[in-house]
Amino acid sequence: MEGVPVVWNEHTSQTSLNSLGQNQETFSSTHSAKTYGADSRFNGAQFHFHHQSEHSIEGVFYDLEMHTVNLPVHGTENGFIASAMGLMFSVNDYTREMQAWEQEIIDRFFDSLAWETTGTPDEEGHGDSITVKEVPYGDLMMMVDMNNRYTYKGSVTTPPCAQNVYWNVLRTVYPIKSAHLELFKKQLMKNAEICSSSATKGVACTPGNNRVIQDISPDHNPFLISDGKDLSDHTRSIIIPAEESTRMQSMVAAPRAPMAASESSEYLTTVITVLLIISILFLLLAVIIVTKNSFNKPVQYQGVEQATQY
Ligand SMILES: [Zn+2]
Repeated sequence: MEGVPVVWNEHTSQTSLNSLGQNQETFSSTHSAKTYGADSRFNGAQFHFHHQSEHSIEGVFYDLEMHTVNLPVHGTENGFIASAMGLMFSVNDYTREMQAWEQEIIDRFFDSLAWETTGTPDEEGHGDSITVKEVPYGDLMMMVDMNNRYTYKGSVTTPPCAQNVYWNVLRTVYPIKSAHLELFKKQLMKNAEICSSSATKGVACTPGNNRVIQDISPDHNPFLISDGKDLSDHTRSIIIPAEESTRMQSMVAAPRAPMAASESSEYLTTVITVLLIISILFLLLAVIIVTKNSFNKPVQYQGVEQATQY
């Protein structure tokens, strides 16, 4: 089928990245492998939305959260079934002013999903799907700031809890037009109404689309990846320019204060002094040997004798 299906299932709008034809290795992360033991390369599977956000940042929930589900390129033997990327949107409480071109990318992305033309769910609460010409998902993901994000190991909450998800939540909250958010909420309402009426008929159906999320604990191994700003209130953080792996590894393995400038210059002075003393001792030894030898064999060691005049 030509175009990209935008599917309304019971809970959300979902789009397969396969159908966009650009899902190969759309997400890579050295931090993923080094910190969590998950794969470092992922193929995009699908993206969908939650209202309100499932995650909160410092206690604040936002209007809309977009989740991209990525599947590991090299399989799930390491216990990680997926990597997820959470991207928050808010009508009023976004955290950074956008430049015009950035806002345009966001608007075009939500326009392309055409939520206003989404069909009505059937009487069991199952939604409808439409096909749109294109979805500029790549433009959106290229624009957002991946270098400032929270990561953690999210575990499946039911036993045996062996399957993990490598979670990423971007730190920047992006603006969304009220009109786009309202379209999403309207569709959710439709689903909820159909769902509750089908529930009275005994059809299993759960309204709403945001789950109760557990607090992050040390077991989740949470980190804040930052490009170097404002980390003072985070005890577990990684400062990296762009997932530069060696520096990150040292930050993770041995988080300690960098050597102070005065300490490092003292160290250098000591090393130079020791090397000087050793050199002088060697020179003295050489002078003694040469002097002694030249005394005994002046002709044979003439060259060296000249050197000793220096
Ligand atoms: Zn989700």
